[in-house]
Amino acid sequence: MSVLDDNITKLSGYLDRFRATGIQNRIAGQDMAGAGGVFQTTSPVDKSVICDVAHGTASDIDAAANAAHDAFATWRDMPAGERKKVLIRIAEGIEARAEEIALCECWDTGQAFKFMSKAALRGAENFRYFADQVVQARDGQHLKSPTLMNITTRVPIGPVGVITPWNTPFMLSTWKIAPALAAGCTVVHKPAEASPLTARLLVEITEEAGLPPGVLNTVNGFGEGAGKALCEHPKIKAIAFVGESRTGSLITKQGADTLKRNHLELGGKNPVIVFDDADLDRALDAAIFMIYSINGERCTSSSRLLVQDTIREEFETKLIARVNNIKVGHPLDPATEIGPLVTQEHFDKVVSYFDIAKEDGATVAAGGVTVGDAGYFVRPTLFTQATNQMRIAQEEIFGPVLTSIPFSTEDEALEMANDTAYGLTGYVWTNDLTRALRFTDKLEAGMIWVNSENVRHLPTPFGGVKASGIGRDGGDWSFEFYMEQKHIGFATGQHKITKLGAL
Ligand code: NAD
Repeated sequence: MSVLDDNITKLSGYLDRFRATGIQNRIAGQDMAGAGGVFQTTSPVDKSVICDVAHGTASDIDAAANAAHDAFATWRDMPAGERKKVLIRIAEGIEARAEEIALCECWDTGQAFKFMSKAALRGAENFRYFADQVVQARDGQHLKSPTLMNITTRVPIGPVGVITPWNTPFMLSTWKIAPALAAGCTVVHKPAEASPLTARLLVEITEEAGLPPGVLNTVNGFGEGAGKALCEHPKIKAIAFVGESRTGSLITKQGADTLKRNHLELGGKNPVIVFDDADLDRALDAAIFMIYSINGERCTSSSRLLVQDTIREEFETKLIARVNNIKVGHPLDPATEIGPLVTQEHFDKVVSYFDIAKEDGATVAAGGVTVGDAGYFVRPTLFTQATNQMRIAQEEIFGPVLTSIPFSTEDEALEMANDTAYGLTGYVWTNDLTRALRFTDKLEAGMIWVNSENVRHLPTPFGGVKASGIGRDGGDWSFEFYMEQKHIGFATGQHKITKLGAL
């Protein structure tokens, strides 16, 4: 039996329970039907229905927010060492079910097993990393003044909402939920409607690990219903959101009346800038990896290639050969490098740019075609002869589609790199150290790598500028979001207190 057949057989076993019962909401440790009935989740591989999913509405969010509110004091006041043990058991539970998580994720999202097989383990790593920080999370400073001993301490902000997108749902959910739980917050999670399977596995794993009922609640549903209600709920103190920039702006508006604290991780149109003095073989590998892995459905993807005109022809020739060689196929085949795009709607959006590119005068140098009609497959695509003003250079396509634009000088490269609404990541390839220092200083992006692809290191800050987001997480920045700073001043003597109305 091939590995693909073996994976399909295993997946079928894992899906049986979803087919039998559908996906319920999970509130206060109980399965709950959605007040809006059900919707269906389908697989992008063959457009087949996977299962029914509870359609949560405002009343389900209200129940979940109340459960998170009721569970808050218990979780907050549990000794840090005990909370740490629960988080480590969650990491162990994820590792034990890594294969199930990976296979379900591939089938639900279309992501290739080659990449998703590691996603569950990265999720476990998120829990282990933040488990290690639990004990220090509340530590503060001692700021002595002449009359007072001032101390600071951090306390968890309260119940929080986590709203996640469909592209790599399991990993992204753990990235938010692990630090929230480590901080002592309780959570209502609203997963993306297009890929709800692994959020259900996560809540099961947390409960099996001993997380008290109500500390993590999952409500499925749509953005304009359950998502909006979560942002508006008065008992939810903060929203950690990952998704599109225009949704980020809605999140801000919806949370205004309840003065919500928001952390927004949004879209990108990230440049990879290749100068002619760079190690071109490594630059080529990294540029290809950063746009064509994870189906190009990746916020940090390098979707704009800015290449120096002196090496453009040579670089693009090698690029075209490699792109044409990328294997598109069944996501459960371990050899597959690109699987199907997540939904019909997203497929239509990505495919529409094949015509937009031609209308704008660019050349489709590779791909630009769909593959079969069983699922939402496209060939990896490269546009050349493009300018930075074209829609293919300005709009987030969020698929395996790269736009190549030549530049001649460093100043021109910088101007083009920054000439975008977004500012999430940038990738600079040069062996000139002073140029790298100069360039990265002026590049408008929250995260920049020099002579490297995106290599995530959990203690570093993650987030974007401009339309790519507000706020950072990773390391202690996550605790700054999920916790409140508190100052307490203790008088150290009988300092003079100004008397008003004294006789
Ligand atoms: P999306 O904004 O359409 O949806 C994301 C989530 O928000 C979903 O759960 C959705 O139901 C919910 N939502 C939609 N409208 C809402 C509303 N009015 N109120 C509350 N919730 C609402 O995004 P998507 O299409 O699922 O994901 C792709 C986007 O996510 C891309 O733009 C990508 O760049 C971005 N993304 C960003 C990062 C990052 O870290 N910066 C990471 C991954 C993905």
